[in-house]
Amino acid sequence: MALLTVKNLKKNYDGSPVIRGIDFSINKGTCVALLGPNGAGKTTTLRMLSGLIRSNGGSISFEGLDYQTDIRYHIGYLPQHPVFHSWMSGKEFLVYVARLANLDKKTAASRADELLARVGIADAKNKRIGKYSGGMKQRLGIAQAMIHQPKLLMLDEPVSALDPIGRREVLTLMEELKQETTLLFSTHILNDAEEVSDELLMMHNGEIVESGPMEKVREKHRVDKINVVLQEGFIPDEDLITALPSVIRTEVARGVHHI
Ligand code: ADP
Repeated sequence: MALLTVKNLKKNYDGSPVIRGIDFSINKGTCVALLGPNGAGKTTTLRMLSGLIRSNGGSISFEGLDYQTDIRYHIGYLPQHPVFHSWMSGKEFLVYVARLANLDKKTAASRADELLARVGIADAKNKRIGKYSGGMKQRLGIAQAMIHQPKLLMLDEPVSALDPIGRREVLTLMEELKQETTLLFSTHILNDAEEVSDELLMMHNGEIVESGPMEKVREKHRVDKINVVLQEGFIPDEDLITALPSVIRTEVARGVHHI
């Protein structure tokens, strides 16, 4: 069953289209990776879904309800560059966030403890956030996004700024969370998408160029080669070009586009 359905969603900046009428749906209980190179439109899409910015057309519905009402309260969102009050402890910060979400004092404290344990940083709950590692900060950010028990958790490039240890910590946590909630995350690294997600939405130049179960997309496009292109950012040889989805292939073949 579709939890979220997006139809013909558009966004322009300064009169230029950045999201060009995308369609997709996310089924309850799935883990979906929004994969694409930098500038593809991933953050803009997630920001529209989170209610932070308005679209310039199209529709978003959540469990069949209209998005513009209070549906955003069912969504948890971790931005690409979360901001923390680094002088606070992890626990103080989560209690503060919980109070902003209208939880009473006692419930806020217990919810903070529950989430600190859930994301694996309970031992550091009284430590200042300024002393946290990158992986711990991201896990705190995920806890923050889960404060109001959202039905859909959206994470924008949750591991891209992390060192290998932090990446592993956060990817492991995502593996666990996907058992409990519907998860949508963006990444420009195919290995991360492959490791955690069941479904792929591949985005390029404001369009969804490929979507479906990970296995299906992998078979169709020999994804190891796409990954090289996405990560290394060079114009590939003939063999790599044939491995790419058609929209990207056309541009690369014309020499217009460095991915
Ligand atoms: P991604 O997350 O895939 O890297 P973004 O959604 O951040 O892509 O950006 C998509 C395109 O929209 C880029 O060309 C970017 O420069 C442009 N863009 C994003 N935000 C703004 C903004 N606030 N004003 C103008 N252009 C923007």
